[in-house]
Amino acid sequence: MKKIIIVGGGIIGLMTSYYLVRNGFKDIIVLERNYIGSGGTYRCATGIRASFTSREHIELMKKSIELWSSLRNELGIPYIRGGYIWLLQKEEEVKQFKKYVEFQNKHGVPTKIITPEEVLEKVPGMNISNIIAGVYDPLAGKANCFKAALYTYKYLINNGVKVFDKTRVYRIRISQGRVEGVETDKGFIEGDVIVLAAGYGSKEIAMNSNIHLPLENLPKHALVTERFRELFKPLLIDWSNSSYLVQVNAGNFLIGAEVPEKPDIPARNKLEFLYRAARIWIKHFPWLREVNILRYWTGYYVMTPDHHPIIGPYKDVEGLYIATGFSGHGFMAAPATGYNLAHWILYGKPIQSIMYNLTYSRFPEKRYIKEIAVFG
Ligand SMILES: Cc1cc2nc3c(=O)[nH]c(=O)nc-3n(C[C@H](O)[C@H](O)[C@H](O)COP(=O)(O)OP(=O)(O)OC[C@H]3O[C@@H](n4cnc5c(N)ncnc54)[C@H](O)[C@@H]3O)c2cc1C
Repeated sequence: MKKIIIVGGGIIGLMTSYYLVRNGFKDIIVLERNYIGSGGTYRCATGIRASFTSREHIELMKKSIELWSSLRNELGIPYIRGGYIWLLQKEEEVKQFKKYVEFQNKHGVPTKIITPEEVLEKVPGMNISNIIAGVYDPLAGKANCFKAALYTYKYLINNGVKVFDKTRVYRIRISQGRVEGVETDKGFIEGDVIVLAAGYGSKEIAMNSNIHLPLENLPKHALVTERFRELFKPLLIDWSNSSYLVQVNAGNFLIGAEVPEKPDIPARNKLEFLYRAARIWIKHFPWLREVNILRYWTGYYVMTPDHHPIIGPYKDVEGLYIATGFSGHGFMAAPATGYNLAHWILYGKPIQSIMYNLTYSRFPEKRYIKEIAVFG
């Protein structure tokens, strides 16, 4: 194998490069349209969990959680297992979550239903009068997204990987069923393997290369407040309102909440989001009323029809691998994705056999995977 081109300098492209290097392969070029992390990676809520409702997500994220621990030692990325708590406000939600917890426990994820008083023990200062139960996931956690990308980038540079920012890929050149390289705004770059990990840009690059990927870029909204000393560790999810709150590594509270959006339109700030986010979380933390919002931004969830990523070789084109469509979970999934993909590229198969379920071919073959635990 001569040269691997990674399209996209987000956490997926960086982690894939990282595990290629760890496997001893260094002839890698990473091409990034803007700057490292500028897509979804630096806009994310930094949450990491395996409490999903499909075996594919659970196995992928359990592996990632194991690797996030190793990455803390290998690269110094700040990562803690502070847990997630799902706040439940209706009886039917509790009934629904009992089933998920049973499924998760069966697959090695130690979630459990807890009382409002137990929620309060883990989240001091919360008004628990609106909730009737919580679901606690002690395996879940959070990592610093800026340091995750930057420390990985530094490692790659120090190990001879070429990373070109401000380089836009237009299309993948394919001839006689195999990749030849990529056409960019800086000219043609030859490569034997291309990994399409361009997040929100993946659909367009694929389309320009006559490949249809079933992706939709769905605008998402998030804000951060001013900084505080650490008040509590878990990431909180208000399930009825599809909203979350997390105190990030630097001490700010980061809040996301779903507002009606259409896919594939420019992601623009909306006053409606600020009102909604404030209304939801002031109910749980009345003191938030006094807290200033520092910044509000938008980004995209790159969605697939079954809310699972597309990972692995694209079987009609030799040398082409895809790693996109993470449907809002690409940060947490990045280590396991890179780990499996690097092995797939170098040795012809992934490390986890469940990865075969995540290749593109599930769409033409109509093997959709079901996932319910998506929010924000
Ligand atoms: C508000 C919000 C909250 C989120 N919270 C979480 C969370 O808590 N946990 C979690 O796991 N995930 C979360 N996500 C999702 C997560 O951010 C993404 O799934 C993840 O960042 C995907 O990484 P990526 O490398 O695939 O994409 P990106 O980080 O978007 O990287 C792709 C890169 O490709 C580049 N690119 C695009 N087009 C081209 C081109 N033509 N040529 C060259 N380069 C190109 C982009 O500039 C970008 O830097 C959240 C997302 C949002 C928006």
